[in-house]
Amino acid sequence: MECIFCKIIAGEIPSDTIYKDEEFIAFRDIQPQAPVHVLIVPVNHIVSVNDLGEKDASMIGRLILLAKRIAEQEHIAESGYRLVINCGSEGGQVVPHLHLHLMGGIRLNDRMG
Ligand code: 5GP
Ligand code: ZN
Repeated sequence: MECIFCKIIAGEIPSDTIYKDEEFIAFRDIQPQAPVHVLIVPVNHIVSVNDLGEKDASMIGRLILLAKRIAEQEHIAESGYRLVINCGSEGGQVVPHLHLHLMGGIRLNDRMG
């Protein structure tokens, strides 16, 4: 298994994990871009949004709802936060395992890259 996030999910690489269930894991980004920067990752290895189909619609819904719950736990629900999914090289995706960035705790600028 070459995927770094699959290795984190398997416990082979340490991470600052703040949530885990059968479907998702959430851990703090190793290079945070904001005071709160959490990656929320499906346990199943899906490379990117390009690989999603109709069968994944409810999983993606639960992913967003989990991000909302973690934002509340991290006390950034009221102040606001940003959810980002990068897809492919020009989208800025570096790790080829689908993940949602939850960022907050500071006023984020409007630039997208
Ligand atoms: P992408 O650019 O693919 O959307 O985001 C990948 C993110 O994963 C980056 O923000 C990067 O800092 C983070 N990351 C890469 N390797 C590791 C790691 O081993 N542990 C953790 N916690 N985050 C990682
Ligand atoms: Zn993976």
